Amino acid sequence: MVQKAVIVYGAGISGRGAAQVLAQRGQQVFLYNDAPCEIDAELAQELAACGGALVFGPKGFAGLLAKAGQMVLSPGVPCDAPHVLEAENYGLEVISEIELGYRLYGGHIAAITGTNGKTTTTTIVGEMFKRLPVPSAVGGNIGLALSKEVEHLPDNGWLAAELSSFQLEKVKDFCPDIAVVLNLTPDHLERHRTMKAYGEAKKNIFRRQGPQQITVLNYDDPEVRGWAAASKGQICYFSRKACLNAGIFMQNGNFVIKWNNTTNVVCNIDELHLFGGHNEENVLAAIACGYFAGVSIADMADVLRNFHSIEHRLEYVRTIKGVPYYNDSKATNTDSAIKALEAFKDGHIILLAGGHDKLTELEPMMRLVKEKCDALILLGEAKERFYRAAVDCGVEHILLADSFEDAVRQAYAMALPPQVVLLSPACSSYDMFKNYPERGRCFKQLVNDLPQ
Ligand code: ADP
Repeated sequence: MVQKAVIVYGAGISGRGAAQVLAQRGQQVFLYNDAPCEIDAELAQELAACGGALVFGPKGFAGLLAKAGQMVLSPGVPCDAPHVLEAENYGLEVISEIELGYRLYGGHIAAITGTNGKTTTTTIVGEMFKRLPVPSAVGGNIGLALSKEVEHLPDNGWLAAELSSFQLEKVKDFCPDIAVVLNLTPDHLERHRTMKAYGEAKKNIFRRQGPQQITVLNYDDPEVRGWAAASKGQICYFSRKACLNAGIFMQNGNFVIKWNNTTNVVCNIDELHLFGGHNEENVLAAIACGYFAGVSIADMADVLRNFHSIEHRLEYVRTIKGVPYYNDSKATNTDSAIKALEAFKDGHIILLAGGHDKLTELEPMMRLVKEKCDALILLGEAKERFYRAAVDCGVEHILLADSFEDAVRQAYAMALPPQVVLLSPACSSYDMFKNYPERGRCFKQLVNDLPQ
């Protein structure tokens, strides 16, 4: 325990979790937030009991540095925020909440990062870990503060940790038993500024690993494949395209593990409810984690066979008059919508798209819409621009909806087997909803209210 006080910067999920864990251990903690915010009474009492408090703004921050020896950053706080730089100049150790969680925990970790697929992969790994004869948990970017989740795990426990690049920025000793990098595409450049800096943050996931640990890398992603040279861990590649000499890969639809001259088939893609090439990659990465953590092949197969998509990600809602409806509200950009369209191999999609326009290029998506969709129903602020882009790419059947209800009603009115109705907006939801989960839930409610 640090003798001087700890400043936890940012009072979101991670910050509140870190502050609570530290206070419960008797540490004096100042939970600092730039803007005024509220915390529950229990946490306020715990902070007060150790001489700490929740403080805001420049006035609240003044004087804290003299009392503190360490600053713990929430993932939402950039490393170059003025107060962070001040703390460093003052001689405080600045670490991320992930690093704090790591230092408080003596057990095993499988850590998962990548631009896309983190939540899906981590959730599958978490299910696999439940089959181990030891306690396990899921934490990190998935919405559960890592430092809190590890609290009740013993030294032989297993944690599945979803990590964003932000969370990986200020780690020091962090060294997971298994580190997974799923993929790397441009994202969050507003914070990391360059692709190089974004990649360097992600590489922190395996930077401290040695021959005792495993680095799992996507062989099919040319950038990530090349990172093998940067890791001192044992490299295990996964691939859905190549039959590897060693690693986890797909062969005739089978998920295959080839390691230490032993080959095991886990199960076949046709046995799963998950679909789409991107999910095949997530499953391969999850199998790597399960395998190296010691989950049996039979248990992994059982988990995969029973795993349904997670909410708002190609989530099956209901079949009406022979037509299945899918909620992919998490597709807040065109890349994700493209993944969803590609996942329906037979096409015949009635696509609901639009929302708050991110003004990104639409041509690649609209070319796929022309190939895969029987109809395109557009809604929200983006609908005019999406309409023009669709027309330019030769999409013929386009409808404009006045409201979300209207869009669902129009889809319902026209849909016939073998069509599918898919909400994959390629936009954020802020024009009509608080966030994508609220949009997804609204869609599901509307679909569930439709008559058979
Ligand atoms: P994350 O937690 O990294 O945001 P999710 O598992 O929540 O990822 O998936 C979000 C969206 O990203 C999905 O709806 C899908 O469109 C896309 N996606 C998921 N997995 C992958 C992958 N392995 N490669 C590329 N895109 C993916």
